[in-house]
Amino acid sequence: MNSTLEIAKTTQKTWQEISISERVKCLKNLQTILLKNKETYARLITTEMHKPITQAIAEVEKCTLLCDYYLQNADSFLEPKKINTKNSESYVSYEPLGVILGVMPWNFPFWQVFRFAVPTITSGNTVVVKHASNVPKCATVIQTIFEEASFPKGCYQNLPISSTEVAKIIANPIIKAVSLTGSEQAGIAVASEAGKHLKKCVLELGGNNAFIILEDANLEKAVGIAVNARMQNAGQSCIAAKRFLVHESIHDAFVSQLKAAVEKLKSGDPLNNDTQIGSLARVDLAEELEIQVGKSIEMGAKLLLGGNRNEAFFEPTILTQVTPEMPVFKEETFGPVAAITSFKTVDEAISLSNQSDFGLGVSIFTRNIDSIKTKISAFNEGAVFINEMVKSDPRLPFGGIKKSGYGRELAEDGIKEFVNVKTVVIN
Ligand code: NDP
Repeated sequence: MNSTLEIAKTTQKTWQEISISERVKCLKNLQTILLKNKETYARLITTEMHKPITQAIAEVEKCTLLCDYYLQNADSFLEPKKINTKNSESYVSYEPLGVILGVMPWNFPFWQVFRFAVPTITSGNTVVVKHASNVPKCATVIQTIFEEASFPKGCYQNLPISSTEVAKIIANPIIKAVSLTGSEQAGIAVASEAGKHLKKCVLELGGNNAFIILEDANLEKAVGIAVNARMQNAGQSCIAAKRFLVHESIHDAFVSQLKAAVEKLKSGDPLNNDTQIGSLARVDLAEELEIQVGKSIEMGAKLLLGGNRNEAFFEPTILTQVTPEMPVFKEETFGPVAAITSFKTVDEAISLSNQSDFGLGVSIFTRNIDSIKTKISAFNEGAVFINEMVKSDPRLPFGGIKKSGYGRELAEDGIKEFVNVKTVVIN
């Protein structure tokens, strides 16, 4: 392990001396390799964490968009910015911090890693990555991909360690900062350790996004997007829509249309191209979901669809009459469970939406854009999407507030998370 960190440190010293325009050439190679082998990588993803193969292919393709984005923009994001002051010269430069640790999850085993590693390496750092223990082959292959793309050996290294060893890595003086995507518990553990050693950390944790459908919404559009927003990746996404808040006047129509659409989802072998919903990544995740659903039903939620578990497979499920005290409202449900609550006024919907420890994002469906724009600041979230599901895009910053974490990934903000913003004044 120490030799891995030493290699990362040595490589970083030479890597930061290479111009950004040279560094980004490796991103072009990365993109080419990903595209060429996307089916092989997708098969690996599906085999290890069971997402439908078409969604795994889309995940690999999305990584290529990320590479392209930083290929086009890294140079301008990182070029020193001149500032006018009374001094003869003053500017800000963006310099790498050194070796950065990534602790990554299994739900998007390629995308989560690439969105951390690509900007972090491009800004002149090197990375070591502790990937989730249930995707070991993805973890190994990703290192190979970076090496094949001609990144110098040591720019990207896989750390095949258990979560109990992470604290020791954070404490190592070679590590300058850490980025974690995962659960609140893992976030607390990593942030505490980083804090103890005064090291920066970026945390991308859970979410409990509301999906709000106002009285004047285009219902058909909202239903179509709702199915995807909740059921994609069998619901195992931090930004998935989890709590559906529906105006009382359209509640019944929404519920019946959503039920009809969800019933059509095809489950089956995730390696089949027509499978739309697979099992969860692990049995314990499905068991946890079963408990959340069971308790909510005991507390008065009505089971409209699904609710059954078979090993790691959890049926797409719809619960109505959900109230804020129930686990499916209060807690993050990391699976295909839509929890529906009705409301009477927009202010009530905002209040319900904000009634969450998390603050990653919210979707609102309405035809009155002018009116909803006046309410955007009332949502305590990292992202507000109107008439669209919350989704990540390399061009837009991504991250949350409250227990969803802090710091931003992607876009210009993301590439500047692990840099020293150096002020230079010359007289
Ligand atoms: P974890 O948070 O446990 O796993 C994510 C990563 O963190 C893995 O690499 C894991 O390693 C590591 N990790 C776990 N505990 C620690 C620790 N104490 N110190 C350092 N690293 C740690 O997620 P789970 O797989 O257990 O999923 C549980 C829940 O977490 C989900 O139901 C969901 O609510 C949330 N989650 C959120 C994600 C998101 O995208 N924000 C992604 C994944 C999960 P290892 O695999 O070896 O345990």
